[in-house]
This record gives sequence, structure tokens and C-alpha cells, in this order.
Amino acid sequence: MNLAHMTTLTPEFVIGLRDLLGPAYVRTDEATRTAYGVDALKRGTPADVVVLPANTAEVAGVVKLCAQYRVPVVPRGAGTGYTGGAVPIRGGVVLSLERLNRLLEIDEANLVAVVEPNVVTGDLQEAVEKVGLFYPPDPASLKQSVIGGNVAENAGGPRAFKYGTTKQYVLGLEAVLPTGEIIETGGKVVKNVVGYDLTHLLVGSEGTLAIITKIILRLVPKPPVQATLRATFSSVEAAVEAVSAIVRNRVVPAALELIDGESLEAVAQNLGVRSLAPEGTVALLLLDVDGVPAAVTEEAARVEAACLAAGATEVLHARDESEREELWRVRRELSLSLKLVAPLKFNHDLVVPKGRIPELFALVRQVREDFRLRIPCFGHAGDGNIHVNIMVDPDDADEIARAHKAEHVLFSGVIALEGAISGEHGIGFSKMPFMPLALSPEEIALMKRVKAAFDPLGILNPGKMFPES
Ligand SMILES: Cc1cc2nc3c(=O)[nH]c(=O)nc-3n(C[C@H](O)[C@H](O)[C@H](O)COP(=O)(O)OP(=O)(O)OC[C@H]3O[C@@H](n4cnc5c(N)ncnc54)[C@H](O)[C@@H]3O)c2cc1C
Repeated sequence: MNLAHMTTLTPEFVIGLRDLLGPAYVRTDEATRTAYGVDALKRGTPADVVVLPANTAEVAGVVKLCAQYRVPVVPRGAGTGYTGGAVPIRGGVVLSLERLNRLLEIDEANLVAVVEPNVVTGDLQEAVEKVGLFYPPDPASLKQSVIGGNVAENAGGPRAFKYGTTKQYVLGLEAVLPTGEIIETGGKVVKNVVGYDLTHLLVGSEGTLAIITKIILRLVPKPPVQATLRATFSSVEAAVEAVSAIVRNRVVPAALELIDGESLEAVAQNLGVRSLAPEGTVALLLLDVDGVPAAVTEEAARVEAACLAAGATEVLHARDESEREELWRVRRELSLSLKLVAPLKFNHDLVVPKGRIPELFALVRQVREDFRLRIPCFGHAGDGNIHVNIMVDPDDADEIARAHKAEHVLFSGVIALEGAISGEHGIGFSKMPFMPLALSPEEIALMKRVKAAFDPLGILNPGKMFPES
């Protein structure tokens, strides 16, 4: 074992880890340290040691050792986060939960699933759907990201407008505190008002308060059918007016995605087709409605009427599953397609009250012009959460500098629009400098006191969320 790279860790500490987990689960080779030193943000520093505990007791053992030796420890799920949350920035231990990956129980009587943190979200969905149940949160990363990471980030997705985000489904947790103690919060009951709501304090805490080792999730019955529609518009304003009209028509779609013209062009280029929508399309809505068959037919008709009344240039209905897949393909291809625009993406999940989406797009237009940047946008129109992707060439220092200036203008602008700088991806270290824009000094001070109460030694995921934490 070569420990030459470790500037802060003692050999005794590493020997302690090996005694606890077995040598195979304490990795210090460069390839592993590098692989666990990045997430989807693609910035970070290698871990000093990567550990792979098998169960809660081992997680607690590692944390106690880290507390004893004052070594930073960073929990990691699948590493798909966009803000560097799972990446060490002060060296130390990356604690991967990948061996805690069992679906422990589907309790059909109580509409509950109990899982270890590293169950892949899509796998859980498939498993519960086989017995007629439904776990709605659907981050686009659902084939890679895991429930523990989704809980730690309070992940959302296209279905959030109708079904809510991850937090609406978390009933209880088992977690290891930064002092090594194990706590259980909540439980299988849907009503529980005993004491502070620690469960929901941990949801979205980005691995800074505790390491989640078990999750009790609420399930709902699987909607029997769904229908997919695609509507195109010659302005973002018309598309947003369609969203308002749909709600006025008393329909809450299961998914309601908005894609702008620049994003559509990227997908068309990637798929090698001339165009994916009628000429002059500036905004496209993808909509799912779900429920019992009669309601779905009626709601789909109301959605179409609302889109046409708002000025849709075309409304398509998928007639079968393969057409549904085809309509959704454009959304699924977005991430890959944007790589053709530029290799590096500063992906911001800005959120505004949905009536203010046109103002957000106007802000983006202005930023595009002022800073000469490519900024394709798409996102969840139903809940006002728009992904604003600043595309840059990593070798172009001037473009990167302009992009960083543009970020500041966008974040200030979004707050002025009564929005928030992150709807899904969290803060990690990449958005940390902007916290003072988003929260008052009093709120930040209170959050830091909460952090100190959980983590008096400051060893759990330090350097995240708050400047100088
Ligand atoms: C292509 C792509 C599409 C995406 N689409 C979406 C989307 O639609 N919606 C969305 O919300 N996000 C999306 N994301 C972002 C990302 O997938 C989510 O933030 C996801 O919830 C992260 O899960 P993960 O398992 O990869 O967590 P990681 O990246 O491993 O960790 C994320 C954070 O959670 C903490 N953490 C992880 N596991 C635990 C645990 N057991 N206990 C305590 N803390 C823990 C880490 O310390 C870190 O701070 C996308 C990412 C990609 C790459």
C-alpha cells in the first residue's frame, strides 16, 4: 500500500480502516482515488482513501475513526451530482455506500418500500411497478443515481409538478451522525408529529449532517394508463400561456417539459435530422397525463384545447407506446446532444414561479447577448424549474471568464424574479459562493449552528454548502 500521496492521514488511521473493513474495501490506488474524486460537475480533487463499508455498523465504525483522527469524510452515492457534493475538497476519506444496495422490503399493505441507500432509483421504480405500485420521483439520472443520493439532494424530475419531489416520499431514515451514533427518524407511519422533523432536515442536506444508511419510502398506486402529447409554439410566452391554460382547465399533467429552440437544434444535429419540429418552433412542450382511462382521454383533450387556445402551431398525440417513446426521445437525448454545442456545460437548475418563466427566458436572452455565450434551456415548466446550460469550450479562458460573470447576473436575476438558484441539484461547492445572494446572514448563521449541532468536529463533508464551513 503506497501512502505517499497522503499529506494529512497517518498510517495508523489507514490500518484502523483496514482492520475495520478488510483490506479489499480500503482503496488507496490512484485510479480509484481519482475515479471517486469527481462527480458530474467534473471538478474536484482525488480522495486520499476510498472506503466501501458493507453495513450501517461499518459506516459508523469508519465515522468514529474519522472523528478520532479528525479526518474529513465525504459520503458518496452514484456520483452523478452536478455540484461537487460527493467530491472531497480537503482530502480525507470518500465513503461510498455502493455495497449498501439492497431493496429490503416492499410493504404492499402499508404502501411503503424500505431500501438501503444505494438502490438505483430506476431499479426501485421497476420493482414496485411489478406489484402495481409507483415511486414517482424521476430525476433524468434515474438509471444511474441512487435513492440515498436522491434523498441527500432532494432530487426532482418531470413528474414533480403533479407528484412532488423526493422529500414528499421519505417517511423515515436510519442515519449515522458525524459522531458515529446511529439514529432512526420517522417510520412507516404517514403521520408523525413527535418532536422536530429530523427526517426532513436530513432530506436535501447534501451529506453534510449525517450519512443515510436506510430509507423508508412512501409509494402510491401505479396510474393504469398514460398519454403523451407534444405541442410546439413560436414563442416561449405562448408555451407558458399554454401551461397556465392547462392549469386553468383543471388538469395537472404528470409531466410537463419545456424545451427551447436552441436545445432542439442540438438534438436534431445529434440525431442527424434537419429539424424535429415545425419551422419557427421556439418552444416545445412535452406532456404526460396519467390516471384511469376515461380521465386520461378527457384530460388529454383538455390539454390539447388549452395548447391550441394559447397559439400552439401543432399538437401531436402519441398513439401507442412506441410513439410515446419517440416523442420523449428528444428530451432523453438532450444531455448528450448538448455536448455537440460545446464540451463543457455549466448546468444551472434555476427555478422561478412558473408565471415568470418568460421573464427568465428574457433574462437568458439578454445574458446570451451581453456575454456572447451559447445557453440552451429546457426544463420542468410545470414547476418553473428551468435548466439553463452555459456551454463553454474548456480551453477558452476568455469564454469561461465570461460564463462566470454571466452566472452572477443570472443568479441575481433569478432571485429578483422571486426564484431560487437551485431547484434540484443543490449547492455542493460549485454554488457555495452564491449562498449569500440567496439567503440572509441570519438564515446562514442559523444553518451553520444546525451543522455544528450535528457535526461539532466539522468532519462530515466539509467545505460544502457554506463558505468557510
Ligand atoms: C445526466 C444527468 C441528469 C440529471 N438529472 C437530474 C434531474 O432530473 N433531477 C435532479 O434532481 N437531479 C438530476 N441530476 C443530478 C443528480 O443525478 C442528482 O443530484 C442525484 O440525486 C444524485 O444522486 P447520486 O446517487 O449520484 O449522489 P452523489 O452525486 O453520489 O451525491 C450527491 C450528494 O449526496 C450526498 N450523499 C450521497 N449519498 C448519501 C448518503 N447515503 N447519505 C448522505 N449523503 C449522501 C453526497 O455527499 C453529495 O453531497 C442529473 C445528473 C446527471 C448526470
